[in-house]
Amino acid sequence: MIAPFHVLAKPTGAVCNLDCSYCFYLVKEELYPDSDFRMKEQVLEAYLRQLVEAHVGMPQITVAWQGGEPTLMGLPFFRRVVERLATLVPAGVELEHTLQTNGVRLDDEWCAFLAQHRFLVGLSIDGPREMHDAYRVDKGGRGTFDQVVRAARLLRAHKVEHNALVTVHAANQDHPLTVYRFLRDELGIEFIQLIPIVERLDEGGLEAGGHAAFSREQAPITDRTVSSEAWGEFLVAVFDEWVRHDIGRVFVPTFESAVASWLGLAPAMCIFRETCGNAVALEHNGDLYSCDHFVTPAHRLGNVLDTTMRAMVDSPRQRAFGCAKKDGLPPQCQSCTVRFACNGACPKDRFLADQAGHPGLNYLCAGYFRFFTHIDGPMRLIANLLKAGLPAEQAMTALRQLDDPDAAGLSRNSPCPCGSGRKLKACHGSR
Ligand code: SF4
Ligand code: SF4
Repeated sequence: MIAPFHVLAKPTGAVCNLDCSYCFYLVKEELYPDSDFRMKEQVLEAYLRQLVEAHVGMPQITVAWQGGEPTLMGLPFFRRVVERLATLVPAGVELEHTLQTNGVRLDDEWCAFLAQHRFLVGLSIDGPREMHDAYRVDKGGRGTFDQVVRAARLLRAHKVEHNALVTVHAANQDHPLTVYRFLRDELGIEFIQLIPIVERLDEGGLEAGGHAAFSREQAPITDRTVSSEAWGEFLVAVFDEWVRHDIGRVFVPTFESAVASWLGLAPAMCIFRETCGNAVALEHNGDLYSCDHFVTPAHRLGNVLDTTMRAMVDSPRQRAFGCAKKDGLPPQCQSCTVRFACNGACPKDRFLADQAGHPGLNYLCAGYFRFFTHIDGPMRLIANLLKAGLPAEQAMTALRQLDDPDAAGLSRNSPCPCGSGRKLKACHGSR
């Protein structure tokens, strides 16, 4: 069967109107020293046509724009995209447009366009002012909090579907609930994507494939990088809030992926899948790379003006790239109790030695192990409810009852609120 693939297209390459200190992509400008960093009509046409052709017979096509800052292309570029796709996409196929932006250039005209064509907009925001402004600054070093909040309110006013892309780093890692509640309660955001900032100082190691064997103490990282333990605690704290109050109301991809893993399904997030290879990055000049995090000369698959994306995604090189994620797991991961949910996480962060000194352990391992072991009980509960055809939201009531069985009037012989049909003492009450 032909598999779908996901393309992150960068119409301005690495060019951005901001200068966020942790941005891993700004340096990619060096890959194209003589470029004007604007996607030309010829590349756009090849890209859109190939994307549609590669997904013939599938119910949905996603067209995703990212950067750099894609809004620097201007609205006319995106109007042409929408018009061209209207002629290319067959009737009955659902077309999803997504745009990842820092929000600075959004205004009423942009938002009216995004609403009209039902774009899903990802807005980069790292929490309240002091946390957001720590690293998300403009070219003059000034914080961008006011601009991004203005953009969030504009998107809301125009009813543009939008989500927050939150990077977790040294400046906000110890404030998980402040960040989460700010987005949920003050900005009314219902989709929150959490991304750990791991900045490697040994870029050469990444070029070679990411497998190294540093000790935790010697890990070559910047001081902006989130600590592994703090990342785990951040996820745990937000999860505990979400699982008791927000299931079905707030969508956090990390948690939804975990639900899939506990149900025995493939998680939606690539970092938790067994293999990768189906999420490629397209540069402004048509160069296709193995992944957004592997835009390096060694991972350039070719150019859409010379060969098709389908051929490049299905190529032995890209398959090998995808399988390396599974094949490169160190012994500690292979025997790990939460491997089914973690799968060693993203290869770009695998630069520690495992307990026995083998290379390729993820820098975030301690955090992921803490998180996945912590959520096991609630995840079993949610999985049981879903398998029984009951709404996952029921887990919120059950967990609150399990937190305080006496207040909920439960005895040890009461039916367990998780819906298993067993007595409390033989089910969640036994723990
Ligand atoms: S390298 Fe990381 S980000 Fe890229 S596809 Fe694999 S898991 Fe996803
Ligand atoms: S928690 Fe650590 S050991 Fe377990 S699969 Fe994830 S990275 Fe590997």
